[in-house]
Amino acid sequence: MDMEKLVALCRRRGFIFQSSEIYGGLNGFWDYGPLGVELKRNIKEAWWQDMVRNPPPGPDGQEISMVGLDCAIIMNPKVWVASGHASGFADPMVDCKTEGCKGRFRADQLTASVCPLKPSKAPGQYDKCQLTEPRTFNLMFKTFVGALEDDSALAYLRPETAQGIFVNFKNVLDSSRLKIPFGIAQIGKAFRNEINPRNYTFRSREFEQMEIEFFCHPNESMKWYRYWRDVRIQWYTQLGIKSDKLRPREQGKEELAHYSIGTTDIEYLFPFSDEPQELEGVAHRGAFDLTQHQQHSGKDLTYFDDQTRERYVPHVIEPSAGADRFTLAVLCEAYTEEKVGDEMRTVMRFHPRLAPIKAAVFPLVNKDGMPEIAQKLYRELKREFNVFYDDKGAVGRRYRRQDEAGTPYCFTIDGQTLQDNTVTIRDRDTLKQERWPLAEVAARLRALLSP
Ligand code: ATP
Repeated sequence: MDMEKLVALCRRRGFIFQSSEIYGGLNGFWDYGPLGVELKRNIKEAWWQDMVRNPPPGPDGQEISMVGLDCAIIMNPKVWVASGHASGFADPMVDCKTEGCKGRFRADQLTASVCPLKPSKAPGQYDKCQLTEPRTFNLMFKTFVGALEDDSALAYLRPETAQGIFVNFKNVLDSSRLKIPFGIAQIGKAFRNEINPRNYTFRSREFEQMEIEFFCHPNESMKWYRYWRDVRIQWYTQLGIKSDKLRPREQGKEELAHYSIGTTDIEYLFPFSDEPQELEGVAHRGAFDLTQHQQHSGKDLTYFDDQTRERYVPHVIEPSAGADRFTLAVLCEAYTEEKVGDEMRTVMRFHPRLAPIKAAVFPLVNKDGMPEIAQKLYRELKREFNVFYDDKGAVGRRYRRQDEAGTPYCFTIDGQTLQDNTVTIRDRDTLKQERWPLAEVAARLRALLSP
């Protein structure tokens, strides 16, 4: 698959635009257009439904306790001291001093980067490159809270949503009477001043995360680590990511964060790279985060089990996914060009649950009472599903437009509808056409779209 064609389709059809494009854009920032916003919402809603409201049964068949949270993006800066981000959330950076280049690269990713002056080479490999020594660069965006712009007013845009969950651990525990094991989930924006934003939306400076912190007894933590790793891989598969492109990769000992007992990166083979890239990290974080916040805040963040009379700092399993990265994987996975008869068609084969538009309604012609019936069906379906009405141009062209938008079903009101109250339903993937009774369209569509 050609990335350039996908990027062009995304712009042309309104999935993704460059942020502030009319002013030349801003590197690392992206906007979702009318189709893109529906796709990304469906992804976030599927995650919330399948992980928070109705997670799969636990390793022993038990019901899983999960609740949600929505925290502020700007937090007390002491949070980032305790979490280690203030001192440690940094990448090594090198600059090129050569006139006309002035490139800036991540020192640990030089071989995967491209020299701006000589794109066939990596930075440092072309004779004209003049790279500086690596310097560390903190990835957190800074801002000031209040009118004074001095150090006492300095604050950060959160680089991850996880810390909002840890600092609310006690609030959630006290207000919801949950018993360990349980999880807290959050979807929200995160910001990282990445040195090299690249590969379309894959590495952006503003993005959305979907994170779970699952709190459990230390003795049971490995069981829960394996549970969440398997649940998360399964989730991507269910939503149409093919197994040969999806790779869980257990991090080696040398890669692990110092506090982590184990981490599995769930990776996807994007078309822009020979190596699979991280979609999500499932990390066993031990007692690290709660212990840090306990020390820095001076507040007791232990859990007391009133049955065993044991008091302890829970261990945490963290499945941390990127909503934008998964959206990009879904777009890459869906993009298909195929020959139908003598014509080529481009079709986005989204899983029906994720498709931005669930169905389109067409009157075959704008006369003989067809528009009235089509409008009535459209208004009925619109109450429940995101549907699209199109009465412009030849019906074949209308089908092609819906193929590019990834709409799984199209309903056409035609001459036969006037006689027997049936409509044509056309399937995006098989191209098969059948007739359904008009009165059953909503119920049958609901059944096809249910997870
Ligand atoms: P990478 O190694 O690619 O920088 P990371 O290991 O730093 O990622 P985490 O801190 O584990 O990433 O963040 C969890 C998830 O958040 C990632 O798996 C990814 O889906 C998403 N994410 C992280 N950074 C970005 C980014 N710059 N743009 C888009 N999504 C991101």
